[in-house]
Amino acid sequence: MGAKGQPLDVGRATRTIPDGLRRAVAARGGGCEYPGCGRPPSWCEVHHIVPWQEGGETAIHNSVMICRVHHRLLHHSEWVVQLSDGLPEFIPPMWIDPQRRPRAAPRPHAHAC
Ligand SMILES: [Zn+2]
Repeated sequence: MGAKGQPLDVGRATRTIPDGLRRAVAARGGGCEYPGCGRPPSWCEVHHIVPWQEGGETAIHNSVMICRVHHRLLHHSEWVVQLSDGLPEFIPPMWIDPQRRPRAAPRPHAHAC
């Protein structure tokens, strides 16, 4: 459960992202989680990593916050997103990186002194 008792994991109950889940994903990434993007949450949508129609859950472990530009990129190209240790990483298409090495965004808190 998140702040104010709002669920962060509604499983298969609804495809719609509850406000509490959206806030939790925004807090994790600080905005678009595509490496090097950094657009703020107001520009972003919450994307189901495993698509809803393929059985993906509406839960933080199946969610990534992504701006409209990169959301379109994910849906219309060979980019793949997955979670590694709870943090999103993006796997580029073969034509960008033949070895398809995952790329992770720098974490907003990683540079705190
Ligand atoms: Zn973006």
